[in-house]
Amino acid sequence: MRSLRHHHAGPSLSQEDLSRSAASALDAADPLLSFAQEFHHPCDSAGRKVLYFGGHSLGLQPKAAAGMLEQELGDWRRLGVLGHHDAVRPWIPYHELAAPGLAELVGGLASEVVAMNSLTVNLHLMMVSFFRPDAARNKVLIESSAFPSDRYAVVSQLEFHGLDAARHLIEMKPRAGERTLRTEDVIERIEQEGSRLALVLLPSVQYLTGQSLDVEPLITAGRRAGANVGLDLAHAIGNTEQRLHDWNCDFAVWCSYKYLNAGPGAVGGCFVHERHGRDRKRPRFAGWWGHNQAERFLYDPTFDPIEGAQGWQISNPPILSTAPLLASLDIFRRAGMPALREKSIALTGFMQRLIEHRLPGLVEIITPGAAQHRGCQLSLRILRPADEAKRCQRELTARGLIGDWREPDVLRLAPIPLYNSFADVFDATDILAVALRA
Ligand SMILES: *Cc1c(COP(=O)(O)O)cnc(C)c1O
Repeated sequence: MRSLRHHHAGPSLSQEDLSRSAASALDAADPLLSFAQEFHHPCDSAGRKVLYFGGHSLGLQPKAAAGMLEQELGDWRRLGVLGHHDAVRPWIPYHELAAPGLAELVGGLASEVVAMNSLTVNLHLMMVSFFRPDAARNKVLIESSAFPSDRYAVVSQLEFHGLDAARHLIEMKPRAGERTLRTEDVIERIEQEGSRLALVLLPSVQYLTGQSLDVEPLITAGRRAGANVGLDLAHAIGNTEQRLHDWNCDFAVWCSYKYLNAGPGAVGGCFVHERHGRDRKRPRFAGWWGHNQAERFLYDPTFDPIEGAQGWQISNPPILSTAPLLASLDIFRRAGMPALREKSIALTGFMQRLIEHRLPGLVEIITPGAAQHRGCQLSLRILRPADEAKRCQRELTARGLIGDWREPDVLRLAPIPLYNSFADVFDATDILAVALRA
């Protein structure tokens, strides 16, 4: 790994070799290179492998996913209802198989995480428990460019409590002329709102700009103000390293189809800090799967929550959408987040320098430049009139580069350390250069 380290430690632009052979040399020195073979890579209609830089939207399919899924389909064919107990991986505790891997990725205890539902559903369930406004403390702080679903969820929760967004929703904006939030500004606002603040909800990695927020001091400030603090890990889990337990985060939610490669609409997940997991009195929306396992089938009329995040489960888990997640978590376990993150920093840094070198004046990188302030993704603003930017986007797809377009002019490209190589990054930048100059 020394060559990668050396690389991202950053020789100045003029010294750095940005050729394709330099990219190949980096690949040859990459200890994670072989993981790319564990994924199916999409091809175009002519059967050529496309350059896939859309892993922040939908991760590629692990080859092991089909086997995991077929196991459950087979057990269902073979056993019917008996599969709940007798499947190779019994279905009743099936979701527990995901907990160790998820706990590792979010930096929590296995009892603090659970695979269930989908992201926005989990966000609502968490707000039911952790947004409990009263006459004095009733505001929610989010960021102004929050993902629409998160904003809809928060506003509808406010309205559910008879509060209106105009007065009770605080939306943090970057400073004039800036594109990303400053930690000190968010902390200052949290301190100003103080005892009026009930909930702080922030992304660990922002979906549009790719900014990785310095969440630990934000969590500390929110909790010091007496608010609960929740994180949306949609673009962070499997991308950057999290320490939710040590950071004292109250709750977090995520989906598993982006960096976690668990497939479209895969089961999401949730983190509830141990101190809340032990609190059986905390209000929640209950269902039988959150009830004490030993007595779940005795149909006791009184809800007795499981200790930990599992106590927030409502329904029995979706086995067929959890099976691919288990295949993916096994890959993460073997690769390890520290090594993945190290490669990611090198890979994204390489891409940044290639873009700066080859596309001056054609794009603006709105993602922060420093590795600690971003994950895999680079968000590029195309410095062209809107109709030309659109044409450029079509050109990229036609030339075999899959990225992700956000209106009106942002192209998001994510080199994924599990399955993208330095040569891929070089070739993607090449296509970008051709499309932008066309
Ligand atoms: C992807 C994403 C979602 C998706 O929500 P679902 O409930 O899984 O459909 C929500 N919030 C953010 C920030 C996202 O990036």
